[in-house]
Amino acid sequence: ITSIAAIGTLLILLHLLQSDLSETSTQERELRDGITGSQFELFYQPQHDGKGRLIGAEALVRWRHPERGLVAPGEFIPLAERTGLILPLGQSVLEQACRQLARWSREPGKAGWSLAVNVSALQMQQAGFVATVLGLIDYHGVVPGRLKLELTEGVLLQDFDQVSAKMHQLRSAGIAFALDDFGTGYSSLQYLRRLPLEQIKIDKSFVAELGRQDRDSAIVGTVLVLGRSLGLQVIAEGVENAEHWQLLSGLGCRLFQGYWFSVPMALPDFEAYAEAGRLPSDWAQPVPELPE
Ligand code: C2E
Ligand code: MG
Ligand code: MG
Ligand code: MG
Repeated sequence: ITSIAAIGTLLILLHLLQSDLSETSTQERELRDGITGSQFELFYQPQHDGKGRLIGAEALVRWRHPERGLVAPGEFIPLAERTGLILPLGQSVLEQACRQLARWSREPGKAGWSLAVNVSALQMQQAGFVATVLGLIDYHGVVPGRLKLELTEGVLLQDFDQVSAKMHQLRSAGIAFALDDFGTGYSSLQYLRRLPLEQIKIDKSFVAELGRQDRDSAIVGTVLVLGRSLGLQVIAEGVENAEHWQLLSGLGCRLFQGYWFSVPMALPDFEAYAEAGRLPSDWAQPVPELPE
């Protein structure tokens, strides 16, 4: 009887495993079809300086799914990374970003905007990554300094020397790098010293606790001081309200991104937002610039 029960359990487990596998491959196929079918689209979230000026955007990919509607990256990036589909997807994101930057460079008032693109570990490890990016900016005629690649600390854990070498090659061509979600991974001060970074992005989890957790204010303040002394820009992400903005400003932050300004928008909405030039209604007078 026990062995029959054991076999029964085993069969159930096998069945579960199989349906799980086939479900995964259905999702994978759908993702693959979505990529070849150009269903992935960039949304743009504005970034502002301390005077409220729009300085550019972060490109955040969305899946315009024929049945499910707009799907957020949290629902497909992990699968894309597990299956390697992040490579063609990331390529499409880079292509769209370069095309858009090139368009903006020909339009008055938009030529100075920068566009930040998230890059996955697998992309960075790809043998031809440097050539691909250089090829794209050359083909589209992008001013290299306008393209910013966002890496997380996880990317650096893969193969630090290889990633660092690629970053230096791209940096010599003028491309900028930002360290995303700073403070959430295995940050090492070595990274900040050895990598050709232009910017660090304070993770939104620290911003969320500002004014509630003294330690988070201390961390944010320290990151700002560190950035300044290393000649790095520091941008805060996840700025959701006037209080965040005020506390961050008081700590010396001069670059901001978050829902308080706007959620990520489809291109026409982003351009309309830029055109309107409106700031949040509770935007305060800018605090004086910090001495250089
Ligand atoms: P991330 O690069 O750290 O992007 C910031 C995320 O925070 C975005 O989520 C953005 O919509 C959200 N956010 C912005 N402002 C606020 C705010 O004030 N409050 C809160 N709570 N959240 C805010 P999203 O668009 O869902 O993207 C999630 C993550 O997916 C990104 O995190 C990034 O790691 C990844 N991702 C997005 N697009 C791409 C892509 O093209 N390639 C790759 N490899 N990853 C991407
Ligand atoms: Mg990012
Ligand atoms: Mg981030
Ligand atoms: Mg993130």
